[in-house]
Amino acid sequence: MRQYARFKEEHPDCVLLFRMGDFYELFFEDAELIAGQLGLTLTQRTGGVPLAGVPHHQLDTYLRKLVALGHRVAIADQVQDPKEAKGVVERAVTQVVTPGTLVDDGLLEGAASDRLAAVCFTGSGEDAAAVGAVADASTGAFEVFEAADGDALADELASRAAREVLYAETATGEAPERVARVLRATGAAGTGRPAWQFRQDEAMEVLRSQFGVATLAGFGLADDAPVISAAGAVVRYLRETKAVDDEAAHSRPGAFAASTLAHLRPPKLERDSARCAVDAVSLRALEVERTIRGGTTEGALLGLFVTAPGRGGCRTAMGKRLVRDWLCRPSGSRSEIEPRHACVAALAEDRRLARELGEALAPVQDIARIAGRVALGRCSPRDVVGLGTSIARLGILIELLAGTASFAETVGVLRGIDGDLTRLAERIAAVCVDEPPAHLRDGGVIRDGVDAALDEARGLRRDASAWLASYQAEVAEALGLPGIKVGFNKVFGYYVELSAAQARDAADALERGELIRKQTLKNAERFITPKLKTFEDKVLRAEGDALERERVLFAELVSCIAAELEALTVFAEAAARTDALLAFADRAAAHRWVRPAMRDEPTLSIRDGRHPVLESTLAGEFVPNGVDLAGEGHPGLALITGPNMAGKSTFIRQVALIALLAHAGSFVPAESATIGVTDRIFTRVGADDALHEGRSTFMVEMIETANILNHATPGSLVILDEIGRGTSTLDGLSLAWAIVEALAGSAETPGPRTLFATHYHELTELDERLPGRVANLHVTVREWTPKGTDGPGETEIVFLHRVAPGRADQSYGVQVARLAGVPKAVTDRAKQVLESLAVQHGPSATPLATAPRPSPQLSLFTELLPHPAVDRLAEVKLEELTPMEAFDVLRELRGMLDEADGD
Ligand code: ADP
Repeated sequence: MRQYARFKEEHPDCVLLFRMGDFYELFFEDAELIAGQLGLTLTQRTGGVPLAGVPHHQLDTYLRKLVALGHRVAIADQVQDPKEAKGVVERAVTQVVTPGTLVDDGLLEGAASDRLAAVCFTGSGEDAAAVGAVADASTGAFEVFEAADGDALADELASRAAREVLYAETATGEAPERVARVLRATGAAGTGRPAWQFRQDEAMEVLRSQFGVATLAGFGLADDAPVISAAGAVVRYLRETKAVDDEAAHSRPGAFAASTLAHLRPPKLERDSARCAVDAVSLRALEVERTIRGGTTEGALLGLFVTAPGRGGCRTAMGKRLVRDWLCRPSGSRSEIEPRHACVAALAEDRRLARELGEALAPVQDIARIAGRVALGRCSPRDVVGLGTSIARLGILIELLAGTASFAETVGVLRGIDGDLTRLAERIAAVCVDEPPAHLRDGGVIRDGVDAALDEARGLRRDASAWLASYQAEVAEALGLPGIKVGFNKVFGYYVELSAAQARDAADALERGELIRKQTLKNAERFITPKLKTFEDKVLRAEGDALERERVLFAELVSCIAAELEALTVFAEAAARTDALLAFADRAAAHRWVRPAMRDEPTLSIRDGRHPVLESTLAGEFVPNGVDLAGEGHPGLALITGPNMAGKSTFIRQVALIALLAHAGSFVPAESATIGVTDRIFTRVGADDALHEGRSTFMVEMIETANILNHATPGSLVILDEIGRGTSTLDGLSLAWAIVEALAGSAETPGPRTLFATHYHELTELDERLPGRVANLHVTVREWTPKGTDGPGETEIVFLHRVAPGRADQSYGVQVARLAGVPKAVTDRAKQVLESLAVQHGPSATPLATAPRPSPQLSLFTELLPHPAVDRLAEVKLEELTPMEAFDVLRELRGMLDEADGD
């Protein structure tokens, strides 16, 4: 208990799993809390101490659950052989498991990245700039970045899959409010760290020692770069949680190599200009990584490439993670995008090559993570053998790709590591059996014939069965009891088994000490004999010797692997890239996706585009639609009108997804597409309620819109759906109007490429007011009158889902309500109301046309609108007019109004 109290004191914010025999035990409040959460049996130790335990071999399962519940878990292991212990067995905390530091295979989902981040604001105030560092503890990837403010910081963290975020805590141990906001926005777990760890000098110190350098200049980082403080905090935390440099880690039983962070790569600084930024809100709204409703990958864009192996899905976990990265952090540079397109083109065309490549990649294991576990001293025999068989694919990969020009670089890289890695693979194959047990402690990892001492120790055990057979005959004869059995059991060791009746007959032998009782079963008794005992000791010793020998040999092999970490990382990256591109190509070939033409100037032109996810769900029923935005005289902003359910949202999302796919390096679902390089994709499409944090829908909508208005450039793509819906009609319409005007830009300063779906028909006249800058599109419906009804009020509609130029003439709200199952009595009454309103305002009332008619809301609205007549009126100098001239002006004004009415 003293050990326990010490560990608990050292790790006060952790749930402590304390190894005792075959269990990891929880005590006191940990036991009470966790027993409830995981459904463990809560018992009491002597003295009334609450206790709950999990079997040691199920540690991974429980760790995964604990981390998913948001706990940090410290694992206290026995670091001394219990047999050698005088008194209490020595223990140490050998690992701290947190959401951002998972490395063990059982704890990680292959396709997901669970990254650790550290953040730090570089100034005071709410809008201060910030820096961040993100590391993947399992693969060693390490990036640093700068962010203009807290919002940008949250976007960076979300796109980089940060699951745990370190921050400098306040003196009272809390998260500063601006950090708390970032955590809420990303949904990541926050971990407070002492503020000194973020100091530049402390951070610099730990980075220098980690990477063995005097300055970080070689990594492209100035020694006073603000990002260093975040990078240092990450490294320090990884070293603590992985027990690096901790002596206990070196002497841990079963440890074959000291835990190092040798796989951690130097921090890489990424420049903004290299990315097509997609903020967290847009990633969510476009369902890039997971669906909004179920939160699943299946049904999201990513799902197209990761959940269907063989049908366009990645073959390896590394490929899946890379596709996730490419989709959430698309590239903003043609020199990065176009080579990817070229590779996809090659594989989409040569299907035989694609198939063979897929077969070569399928058996490739998660080398990136295995290399990580090698560096951390936690790799298993299966990891090592898997590594060997994976490397063995290298030659085939080179051979397959060698003839394809677009893969020349990859081939060059693979050739560079081929020699070293192939030697390593041969060594692994020579040393390890083909199908090793899960754990080194189970024995049988090293082949026979590798090591004489091991072979000898094993020989003894193998000879045991022959010896036992002859011994069985010997005791049977000595006791005069034929049919007795000699056997072995893991818990009780070797035994002679007699049935109950035989045992009675053997009473004499028992008395003479020739048989010693060991275990009583239902119908039998088990005994040991002095000779059997001697034999058992010898065999057990041989077994221990064999295991120890295996451990030494395995450790040697692991250190050979550790020497090739760099080459392994290179291989992992090349395999991931090839796999990801192959997944893109498979999709392209199976669904007739095309290579997008990339342009430097902002343009967007899509012929017969489809929604990448819906085109499969709706099979042949999906109606393709295109758009031309900016470039070649097209307006940069399109307004899309049409009734609800017509397909407006689907259309605008589809355009955003096509642009995103192109920047990720994929082909796109269309007949053809020309896409200007995009610096950011913004979307404002229906906020999902769970993330509102108590703010009204309208507030969220306006915050997101403000973000767009403040940051969109002519190089951006903006997708807006139903702006202004959350407030009164008049407010909403006015805001929507002003927002369109702002986004349409001017002839001198063009706005971003924008798609604006709206149910405010009034907006459609902006194409006349802003000629050449705003275009009208509408989603068509067909109206029909069912037989047996008469009059226009009885029409029903059919959605055609086809986008066409021009404005929608009606909103068909009543018909849609009818389709939705609103009772007929209600829709009939709505029709009556609509008709009476139409009498007042005219059938397709636009605000201007109705201006002269009495209508408090609409006339008020017209006052807000600029109109040539109003402008003309303002110019008139009344004092200079004669009555006749006044009459002329009046006629002119009236003429202007009539003209508008005539439209
Ligand atoms: P809106 O935004 O106009 O209310 P949505 O985009 O939500 O409409 O589309 C409504 C439904 O119509 C979608 O759920 C989808 O099933 C169907 N749909 C939309 N676009 C298409 C299309 N191009 N082809 C076929 N069905 C479509």
